[in-house]
Parts: sequence; C-alpha cells; structure tokens
Amino acid sequence: MLKRKKHFMNSTLSFPCIFSCALDSFLEIASCLFLPHLSDLTVRNEFTELLFNTCSRYVESPENSRLLEEIREPIWAYLREQCPSFSARDSNACFSQIFEEKTLGKLTSDEMNIFSSLRTFQSFCETCQKDVVLNSSILVNFVTRSALEKCKLNYNSWPQFVSSVQTQPGKLKCPDCETPTCKPVLTSAAHSKFVFIEFAPELMNVIKLYENISVGQAEYKLKGMVRSYNKHFTCAVFVQGKWTYIDDLCRSVKEFTSLAALTKQFKQGWFFLIYELSNIFCEVTDFSACTDSIDREMKEEVNLSNKFCVVTDFSAYTDSKDRGMKDEVKLNGCEKTSADIVKIGHFMNSVINTCQVYSCAVDSFLEVASYLFLPHLSDLNERNEFTELLFNACSRYVESPENSRLLEDKT
Ligand SMILES: [Zn+2]
Repeated sequence: MLKRKKHFMNSTLSFPCIFSCALDSFLEIASCLFLPHLSDLTVRNEFTELLFNTCSRYVESPENSRLLEEIREPIWAYLREQCPSFSARDSNACFSQIFEEKTLGKLTSDEMNIFSSLRTFQSFCETCQKDVVLNSSILVNFVTRSALEKCKLNYNSWPQFVSSVQTQPGKLKCPDCETPTCKPVLTSAAHSKFVFIEFAPELMNVIKLYENISVGQAEYKLKGMVRSYNKHFTCAVFVQGKWTYIDDLCRSVKEFTSLAALTKQFKQGWFFLIYELSNIFCEVTDFSACTDSIDREMKEEVNLSNKFCVVTDFSAYTDSKDRGMKDEVKLNGCEKTSADIVKIGHFMNSVINTCQVYSCAVDSFLEVASYLFLPHLSDLNERNEFTELLFNACSRYVESPENSRLLEDKT
C-alpha cells in the first residue's frame, strides 16, 4: 500500500551526483529503532549525541524537505570525516562503515549495551600457570559462504552460525607468552539491545530471512533491513505491526502487512539486518550436588524466583501494536483453560445428602488418584490392602456411568 509519509529525500534530487541513500537509510532505521534507547542514556559520546539530536529533530519536524536537509547535514559531515567511502558523497558509500568502531567512537557501557554484544571468556595458560581473561565485543556479525562452510553449515542455518560466533571464543592466546591457552569458557555474555548482521554479496539473494532468531540465551526479532540494489540503498522498518519500505528517491513509502509480502515485492538485495532483543532465557542451574534435601528445595525455590527476575520484560521497548498482540495471545490462553464448564461425572460431597458428613478430602484424593495413579496401579502384579482398595475404587469410578448414588457406594 502506498502511503505519504515524511522522510529524508535523496540529495541527488536537489544536487545532481550527490547521493545520500546510505545515510538516509541509516537515519530512518535509527529514528525508529535506536532513538528510544538513545533517549534513555544519561551520557552520550560525540556520535551518539549527534545521532540522538538528528533523530529527535527529524521525528519532531514538520514535513519540509528543506528542513530535513538541514537536519541531516551535521551527521553527514561527521560520517564524511570518519568513513572513507562517505567522503565523496557519491554512490559508492558503504553502508556498514557507519557501524565500525572508528565511526561509533568510544562507547560507554550503556551505549555498548545498545549496539554491541560484550562477552567475557576465561581460560588457563599452562606455561605461565595463570588464568587468562578476554573481554570481546561484536558490533556487526558478518556472514560469508566460506565462514559457513568452515562450520559445516548450510546457508539457511546462518542464525546458528551467528549464535555460535557470539558464544564461542575460538582460540585464546596468553597475552604474556603468546601460547594458545586451554579451551576457553564463556563466563558472561551481555546481550545487546540490537544484533546487526551483514551478508556477503554471494549470500544476500539466497538466504532465508527469519523473523525471530536466538543468539545464545536470548531471542531477537527482526525490526529493520537495509537493501542494496542497483547501487542504491533503501530500507524497511517494522513499526506498529507493519513493514514500511522507504526509498529516498520516492515521495511515498510502501506499507506491507508481513515480511513475506515485503520480500515478495522486493526480492533481492537485502544484505543488512537489524534484530532487536525480545526475550532472555536463562540457564537452569543443576543443584544435584547438594546433599541436604531441604537445602536443595530452598535453593531451587531461590533459583526459580531468580528465573522470573532474569526474564526481563521488554514490552516497554516494543511498539504498542506488538504488545497488544502479546496480550491477545495471553487472553486466548486463559479463555481456553478457565471458562469452559463441562459436565463430568465426579464425586459429590456427601454433605449434600448427609448433614455434617463431609467427603471433600477423600473426593479430592480420589479425583487425583483416578487420573494420575490408576494407570500405574493397574500395572502392578501385586497390591497391598490400601492400593488394592484404591485400584478398585478408581477403576469402578472411571468405568461407571454418571450416577451419583453409585459413586457414593464406592467411597
Ligand atoms: Zn602464558
């Protein structure tokens, strides 16, 4: 569906041979996806401050192409200085140079948390007899055919490749003696708000685009994509449950109800994907080594409550439509389990027939026993007085017609 919406227009429309499509695509994505996170920061570096100002002015501005050109100029000047391919302002700008460390500058830990994963690996150097710790971060995950082949992965298994690159350190060298250390172990991984994936040219038209991927213990949702086609960059962002395709050479934008509909019309050229964190799973620690059983129970309880804390609610970050959908799913789930009233023959409290004689404890026990214990009781070759009695009561119950007099006899 065609829609009129304010957006950055290519500078070539005003100045022949000056192209801004790489920057325009970046700013559309940054304004939709990064701005909410940038506005949460208390401290910003030169680049993130510039990006924050540009995006805020953009979203607040009226639809006026002259004004948008002005808003864009400072960040374009910055990129021309930092990224070699942007200096000529021609059609040879390399989009992913924006995501290089040199461009982003020194990031604080809060800024890192938005753009870059941070992992800590630990190992041991046998030569020096000491622990070796490595902190490493990944900004953009590059996926090439040869890297996939090295991991014996098919090109459609690229999410698995990204996840393993993020969680496996490969080989670690001791900083002192330079010898390879023992097998490194991942000791901590901070999941960034966004994961960026760039596909090599040989892969970009063959790979499958997934709406959700798992990276380590976290789940990510596809929120933005950049396309390079005929030496021209365009982009798509997922906002309010719709994919919006923005081409800075066209006045209008195109809206699609699904990723499939978007990629049906624009099949080729998607090479840069932006995934946003949607959920974190957590590891269930094994407490089997604990000896004291009460101690173990308590620890398990603590572990469970921790689990709920760790599963952070990211609903604040997702757009409202998305959140509405999640609530809907929850509601449907409730309706199915709570609202249906079914007439099933079951033990009725004896107080209904006989005053002051209550059977609810035994009734509850028999209901549970008939559903859960009976199959196991029927497997037994020998039964003692109690289990025989229980077996008979439960078998007669499940085989009986719905007749309350008959059920009372059994108890
Ligand atoms: Zn060493």
